[in-house]
Parts: sequence; C-alpha cells; structure tokens
Amino acid sequence: MNDDERGTEKGGRSTDSGHETATAARVQVSDIAKHYEGNEGPIRALEGVSFDVSDGEFVCLVGPSGCGKTTMFRIIAGLESATAGDVFLNDERVDGPTSDMGVVFQEYHLFPWRTVRGNVAFGLEKSDVAAEERRARVERLVELVGLEGFGDSYPKELSGGMKQRVAIARALAVDPDLLLMDEPFGAVDAQTREMLQTELLEIWRETGKTVLFVTHDVEEAVKLADRIVVMAKEPGRVREVIDVDLPRPRARSDAKFGRYYERVLGLIRGERGTPDV
Ligand code: ADP
Ligand code: MG
Repeated sequence: MNDDERGTEKGGRSTDSGHETATAARVQVSDIAKHYEGNEGPIRALEGVSFDVSDGEFVCLVGPSGCGKTTMFRIIAGLESATAGDVFLNDERVDGPTSDMGVVFQEYHLFPWRTVRGNVAFGLEKSDVAAEERRARVERLVELVGLEGFGDSYPKELSGGMKQRVAIARALAVDPDLLLMDEPFGAVDAQTREMLQTELLEIWRETGKTVLFVTHDVEEAVKLADRIVVMAKEPGRVREVIDVDLPRPRARSDAKFGRYYERVLGLIRGERGTPDV
C-alpha cells in the first residue's frame, strides 16, 4: 500500500491488523521547561518546548546529543516531571506512566529471565484481558515483529535487532494509543537498522498508532517522519517543525530526500537561512 492509500485510511482504519481496536492519540507538548541542578549552576535541559502530534501521525524528534531529547521523552512518558509546562495525551494531562503509551527505550530493557513470549506478555498480566485472548495477542505480536519461531527464546539468545523487536511487541501488547520511542535503533548495525525502520513503518501502517520517535540521526528522521520536530541545544528548544512531503518508501538517493536532509542538518548546526525544500 502506498502513502496515499494510507492517507485515505485515516479516520476509518481497518482493524484486521491483529489488533481489535485501532486507537491512536493526540499529543500536545505545551511550553515545557526542565532544569537540573548542576555543579556550576542550573542546567537548562529544556526551555519553552511546544509541539503537537496528531492522531495517527508519525513524528520524529531530532536534535544533537545533549539537546534534551531523552528528557523530553521521559517527561512525555510520565517518567519524569517538568519544571514548567504540561503534556497532554488526548486532552488529559500526563502526570505519570500510563498504559495508553507503549514505550521503547534505547537500551532494550528486556527481562532476561523471561522468554520472548513472556516479555511480550508482561504488560497484559496486570490487565483484564482474558487468558485466551492474551495468548492469541502475544502470538500475533510475535508474528507482527517477525519473530515467529523465537517465542520460547531468551533475550541472551537474540541479536540486538531481535531484542528491539521484542521491545516493540511488548510496547504494543497493551494496545496503547501512542508508541513512544527513544533512539530505539541506535544500538544496532546499519543494515539491521534499515530493516527495522522499514518494519516499523509497516507496523505503523498496520496498527494505525500514533508514533513519536526520538533520534539524533537526521537520515532516520527524514526516512520515517510525517513531520520532524528539530531541536537545538543550550538550552534545548524547538528550532523548527518540518513537514516531510515525500512518498514512502523513501530513498536516500532521491534528490528531494537529500534536500530535506540538508535542511534539517543545517538547522541542527544552527545555520541561518537554510533553503526551503
Ligand atoms: P539527549 O537525549 O538529546 O542526548 P538528554 O535529555 O539526555 O539529551 O540531556 C539533556 C541535558 O540534560 C544534558 O545536558 C544532560 O547532561 C542533562 N541531564 C539529563 N538528565 C540529567 C540529570 N538526571 N541530572 C542532571 N542533568 C541531566
Ligand atoms: Mg538521549
């Protein structure tokens, strides 16, 4: 299915994707500041950060190392409180972790003593999903992330890319409205990363989830996003939000791809007057 077809699906998504509900979420980040106490005075990790993510949209948050991406991710996930400002998920203020979000961290954070199935099932164990449905859902997700045949394997038996697939399946298990990811493919080799990117787009298309994806990799952001929120450092601020008007699948070799890439990179480097695409 191409991008246009996906567009026509919005608002009335099919639910034959292995998920019984095709819910997505709106996120509003409103004037967030985060200050830490440093040895030489306060560290302004984030200052006046505002952006939003629409229902079903794929947004990448991109910026240089240390610009506050992980801090922003943790605040949105409800894992950390902001010094000022608010985050809203479907108009409700986020004030702690919620099963409405599926969270994927840079490091895999799998339970080493649980099998692939056991890891994927984790979030469901506290839910009111019936045992039979739980088992069926775990099987569907293991398949969705391409790990058929590995359900009984333990994390130590898996490659980095496979571990991150498990983490994605686990995040999707509770059928969250929002998939929130912090540099999820940062620790895998380039070839695996490309494969996972393609698979994530496929999962996004199939499930209709809203995705907020943090990365420092400009090429990754241009490859994946409907919109890119470009952040700058010291203090961490939003420099610009860019609509990526490119059909999928996207190729780095495409001239327009290259222009988006240069534009985002220019913004990150703080260049003035970067050309429009
Ligand atoms: P990124 O993910 O973009 O690399 P981070 O959000 O990890 O950036 O960090 C942003 C800034 O906040 C950095 O200067 C970092 O050193 C600082 N920082 C992050 N977490 C803490 C903390 N717990 N205590 C003090 N400073 C922190
Ligand atoms: Mg980070």
